[in-house]
Amino acid sequence: MTIRLEGKPVAEAIDDGTREAIRALPAGESSPCLASVHRGVDSPFRYYLKRQAKAAAALGIAFRDEPLGPGEGPAQLLERLRALDRDPTVHAVLLEHPLPAPFDFYRAVAALRPEKDVDGVGTANLGRLVAQAPVQVPAVALAAVEIARHYRLPISGEPVAVLGRSETVGLPLALLLAGKGIGFNATVTVVHSKSRDLRQALSSARTIFSCVGRAGLLTRAMVPEGAFVVDVGVSTVPDPARPGSSKTVGDADYASLDGWAAGVTPVPGGVGPVTVAKLMASTVLAQRLLRSGGGP
Ligand code: NAP
Repeated sequence: MTIRLEGKPVAEAIDDGTREAIRALPAGESSPCLASVHRGVDSPFRYYLKRQAKAAAALGIAFRDEPLGPGEGPAQLLERLRALDRDPTVHAVLLEHPLPAPFDFYRAVAALRPEKDVDGVGTANLGRLVAQAPVQVPAVALAAVEIARHYRLPISGEPVAVLGRSETVGLPLALLLAGKGIGFNATVTVVHSKSRDLRQALSSARTIFSCVGRAGLLTRAMVPEGAFVVDVGVSTVPDPARPGSSKTVGDADYASLDGWAAGVTPVPGGVGPVTVAKLMASTVLAQRLLRSGGGP
């Protein structure tokens, strides 16, 4: 039997900790505040934005929606981020990723001090992660390992595979899994679009973290029998049950893996809600780090 590794109980446990941390704020301290900066109405980021606003409201975190105006380009984005970095009422800033040309994501996010770069995607934070002394870590990577921890998936000392090597998802996750200090001591294989033999690369993995964004990539022909799959990928595909509409799916072909894999996270309902919960927890962390003068 294949276990559905639901994100909900994991997200709820994280939210409990976040509520507790907010309750324990020193007297007179304002609520933590997250600002989300994005390109505005056309951005695919808008869906994620709604979930951030809803989660923040439920936890008592102030949320600032910061869309760029239609005529605003890289210079205005930099100005906006510098202003948010200076603003003492804002503790955490999330910048839409990826950003199309002419925006330069890494130049822009460098306007934020590492504590406020709440998704840990600036080079200062990624460098700290390599050094196993992170300030902020990408919420999606934290979410994937939190699910693994919650369901006690085989990670520590075990062969695991990460599909995808983007700087914001696959690589930070691989670093967390392989790391010793704050990491999980896993033996990590990183697989990407130039990997010659996907099936062979996954053949010894006991847990597979898939961060690609290609619907149906992982079938029982690819995944070793009895392995676990943490499905980070998100794709939108036509919904055959409702002609003319679409649905959200992951990288795993759930029907093919059912009865073959030991456990699979569903999409939606797996890594997504846990990522949002981790983002809120990182907002509270940002406030604490700023109060104590920065640094972990
Ligand atoms: P990305 O920048 O497009 O990276 C995709 C990665 O997949 C690349 O490293 C690419 O390899 C690799 N890849 C492509 N085809 C492959 C194949 N056939 N076999 C193995 N690897 C392959 O995307 P991303 O920003 O990292 O995001 C990855 C996925 O996670 C997306 O679906 C995104 O929507 C999702 N996501 C989910 C959450 C959540 O909370 N659930 C949060 C963030 C992102 P190359 O490097 O060679 O191109």
